[in-house]
Amino acid sequence: MNEPICRCNSCNQLYIDTNPQSDAPRYELPDDHDLQTLTLQVETDGDLFQGCPECKTDAYLMDIDQEDDDRLKQFKTTKDGIH
Ligand SMILES: [Zn+2]
Repeated sequence: MNEPICRCNSCNQLYIDTNPQSDAPRYELPDDHDLQTLTLQVETDGDLFQGCPECKTDAYLMDIDQEDDDRLKQFKTTKDGIH
């Protein structure tokens, strides 16, 4: 399954982007991946947005970089290696 991935630069976790740009890069994840998704957060003025479930904000969300890309590949390779 191809999922758009983003990173929270505050907690340094990778998340499945539940509100991606149409041109967001997508990554093939193993079926048993344990990445969390962004969750619905509420602004103080009542607006809703998709944000980091740990940090409760989208201020630190960014596209993943080459290092994250390698992490994802390693993740997939590791999982494949187990089975
Ligand atoms: Zn975070």
